[in-house]
Amino acid sequence: MNSLNLKYGRTNVWSKVNEQEKEGIMRFGEDYKRYLNKAKTEREAVDVSASLLIGAGFSEISKMQGQLKPGDKIFTTINNKALLAVVVGSRPLHEGFNLVGAHVDSPRLDLKPQPIAEEEELAVLRTHYYGGIKKYHWLSMPLSLHGIVVRGDGKTIPITIGENPSDPVFTIADLLPHLAKDQADKKMSEVYTGEDLRPLLGSMPLKVDKESNGESKEDNVVKMTVLDILHSTYGIIEEDLISAELQLVPAWPARDVGFDRSMIGAYGQDDRVCAYTGLRAIVEQSLPQRTAVLLLADKEEIGSVGNTGMESNLLANVMAEIMYMVTGNESGLTLRRMLTNSRALSADVNAGLNPNFADVMEKDNAARIGCGVTITKYTGSGGKKGANDAHAEFMGLVRSIFNSNKIVWQTGELGKVDQGGGGTIAYMLSEYGMNVVDCGVALLGMHSPMEIASKADVFMAYRSYKAFFDSM
Ligand code: MN
Ligand code: MN
Repeated sequence: MNSLNLKYGRTNVWSKVNEQEKEGIMRFGEDYKRYLNKAKTEREAVDVSASLLIGAGFSEISKMQGQLKPGDKIFTTINNKALLAVVVGSRPLHEGFNLVGAHVDSPRLDLKPQPIAEEEELAVLRTHYYGGIKKYHWLSMPLSLHGIVVRGDGKTIPITIGENPSDPVFTIADLLPHLAKDQADKKMSEVYTGEDLRPLLGSMPLKVDKESNGESKEDNVVKMTVLDILHSTYGIIEEDLISAELQLVPAWPARDVGFDRSMIGAYGQDDRVCAYTGLRAIVEQSLPQRTAVLLLADKEEIGSVGNTGMESNLLANVMAEIMYMVTGNESGLTLRRMLTNSRALSADVNAGLNPNFADVMEKDNAARIGCGVTITKYTGSGGKKGANDAHAEFMGLVRSIFNSNKIVWQTGELGKVDQGGGGTIAYMLSEYGMNVVDCGVALLGMHSPMEIASKADVFMAYRSYKAFFDSM
């Protein structure tokens, strides 16, 4: 027999690396955890990503003067929730760019426009969940509150509470098992409704001074304590909460998982794991041949809608500006040629095979955590519905780029054929005519408050995006 591997098999990254490479993977994991801890919402992810880019010599497009030239590093943000970073390549732009596209929004609990309620002398928060969650995940855990409030005077007040160990947190109290007889007979989808996800906000009534106001007793006295604190701390009145975006997310930081510290458990790894690894890959581009583009989109978890989501024209709009700044060309035809000749990795997570729930996967085609970055030819559900389904020729190209750069990669599929499924931004990128394939990190417990990634896969994702940017 020759040395050719006739049979396809996954390679466990850890069994392949030497001590020095293992140290590199662990170090990268530390940087990644720091990013996750600072990026718990899409706004925070865009902020911390912009700082990272500025630190690496990128300039905001709006601050650039004159013509852009090969090697220039620029970025722009869209409504503080989406970001595009570009390193201008040496080849003509109409020949296309290499794009890595991830998303920075994650499932969470959003506050309703009028969130503060009082019941049974407890103040609670009314929420409306965002994205695909299993509702029971969000009970009995510490939640932190992140976001902004735009006050009546136009001033934007940032709020982050619950991250510092000395901060208070919020939490949704669950039903005690002693009284859960009726609940235990319900279907999981019926146990909790969206309206049930109401964290505790306070329990101390505000003392109403009857002599000074001489009016009738306030009904919502506990709620008044909360409003009083919001006013004295942030200068906020209840109406200000209508022009606010406040999100509840798990209050815990990213942690190592396992005796061997090989995994990371954290909230929001879908899809900040691909955002971070994409960032690390693009900051290392100095003079690529093909222009390198990193896209961090918003709203993926609710269908990529809105002007910060991938269904908008944000990519084409920004790339038209860049085309103009590099070449002076305003032609729509040249823009279309550039977009069509481009190629993309839709950088998003896939599901790793979880031994606790192995029967939802078809084993030969399921990704395993620790076996490298996952290439997913198609996503979708119910017969590939909604899938981009990458062309074999493009799969071949990406595979050869990764193999020639000694990147450990694996193939993945999102569960058994009839089990369900999901989508990514891949099909929206392909609408421009470019070739796209999904490529990212396999997670266990995806969309839970504690998603698990292998540090080895995080590192391989970074290396795969870097190799893709480098490719001609
Ligand atoms: Mn995702
Ligand atoms: Mn998701």
